[in-house]
Amino acid sequence: MMDVQLTVPLMMERAEKFFAKKKVISRTANGIQRLSYGEIGRRTRQLSSILVDFGVEKGDKVGTFAWNHHRHLEAYFAIPGMGAVLHTINIRLDPNQIAYIINHAEDRVLLIDDCFLPLFEQIKDDLKTVKAYIIMTDNEELPPTSLYPVHHYEKILQQGNPTYEFYKEINEQEPAGLCYTSATTGDPKGVLYSHRSIVLHSMALGLADNAAVSESDIAMPVVPMFHVNAWGLPFAAVWFGTTLVMPGPFFTPKLLAELIESEKVTIAAGVPTIWLGLLKELEEKEYDTSSLRAVLCGGSAAPKGVIERFEKKFNIPFVHAYGMTETSPLVVLSRLKSYQSNITDEEKYEYKAKQGLLVPGVEMKVMGKDGEVKWDGKEMGELLLRGPWIASEYHKDDRSHGAFCDGWLYTGDVVTVDEEGFIKIVDRTKDLIKSGGEWISSVDLENALMAHESVFEAAVVPVPHEQWQERPIACVVLKESAKNHVTKEELMQFLAPQFAKWWLPDDILFLDEIPKTSVGKFLKRTLRDQILTHYQSE
Ligand code: AMP
Repeated sequence: MMDVQLTVPLMMERAEKFFAKKKVISRTANGIQRLSYGEIGRRTRQLSSILVDFGVEKGDKVGTFAWNHHRHLEAYFAIPGMGAVLHTINIRLDPNQIAYIINHAEDRVLLIDDCFLPLFEQIKDDLKTVKAYIIMTDNEELPPTSLYPVHHYEKILQQGNPTYEFYKEINEQEPAGLCYTSATTGDPKGVLYSHRSIVLHSMALGLADNAAVSESDIAMPVVPMFHVNAWGLPFAAVWFGTTLVMPGPFFTPKLLAELIESEKVTIAAGVPTIWLGLLKELEEKEYDTSSLRAVLCGGSAAPKGVIERFEKKFNIPFVHAYGMTETSPLVVLSRLKSYQSNITDEEKYEYKAKQGLLVPGVEMKVMGKDGEVKWDGKEMGELLLRGPWIASEYHKDDRSHGAFCDGWLYTGDVVTVDEEGFIKIVDRTKDLIKSGGEWISSVDLENALMAHESVFEAAVVPVPHEQWQERPIACVVLKESAKNHVTKEELMQFLAPQFAKWWLPDDILFLDEIPKTSVGKFLKRTLRDQILTHYQSE
């Protein structure tokens, strides 16, 4: 067979050639813009040529600091399209971490949304490698800024070459993308994606048994473009000619519901907190969501109750998936097998709440205390992965040794596997509650609590215990309508029949909100500190 290199520029070229009329619907600060793939392609080439003019060279890193919109999409293809590496930076990290990441990556140029200028004014003196700033804005003029040299995205694009030939002398193993993990402890770790891994991962997103992204879809990545490349959706969508809906800055559940209705979105992707918010909106106000054929949910465990409400109340198919920055991210996705169509509703949602089956192209091992675990849905072990879109090391980082060994990625996720091969994430190794020598899954308790009709969100964390080493404490945010009505005892009674006695939380605390990480996951370390302070002050 031919040894043809799998590269990112080929994806954009396909969209330009075959889908020039298809649209990207982009919500920006000034409203909704509709651009065709023909236009996006020309603008992408203009940006590539400008980066060449700026002296960006093959292998250099170019950072983006932006929401999900068409300009960010252009950067996704323009940067690897001229041989450089697209580094998507998490806009929600604290300024010190942002400066650390930019310096560690050695970004040469930064593309920044205008709303983030004040932040860069603050950290600019700490940035050691940045040679130019390009500001993405709808406005004619840039706001006053001390960043230097600074350029207006649209104005500089006009000077670019719309027929620039994408750089083709690329070996598919060369880097095209760079993302840092949203490390909750220590500095974030960088993962370099190769052209090949991006292309193969995009292909996996298109498989019928996976996300089945296709030309006929209208896809809305709500997951940020800095969170594992919006789970690879922008790459796959452009390659397949899929219509894209980019929800832009500062979106709300109401705005997402309106976009789904007005643009007839067929597939949307995001973390559970996004879907919890949308669910609340749909329950309060009527929207036409009949176009949705899939809500793709990953990043943390999707509670069974939420899945059930989406499917039963709103007829919206819910697809649970699992992955991590190190895995591009898609590696596990939950779809029932064809011969499972006769199972009860209860069983169906048990399955759907599991993360699912390993996708084709990736291999796994689950290692318990005594070797590989039994597939009985009970024995727990750490999930190990390998495959063509799984990282083999962290970028310039000594911490690679702990995570990558003997050709496998040690995910740090503790899982069970049932007889059908369905994987269930029990916890992060560090979040498991170790009580009296046994393990309690915080995720299971959280899901059970979130299935209660009065509970909006629930997080369970371990607190130190003299006798048992650790014990679970549950933190619950009640729905507005249930505030002051629901008691701790009622929730305990609700949990009791579902778990062994020693699994039940020692206490349930009612909070106004649960602290979240920069990508919307429960920030358990902060929560645990809050709880300890709470008990000390009692
Ligand atoms: P990140 O690299 O920020 O995407 O985080 C990856 C981690 O998120 C994984 O190692 C898991 O611990 C967690 N995660 C991702 N998807 C799921 C899921 N569907 N259910 C439970 N945990 C998940």
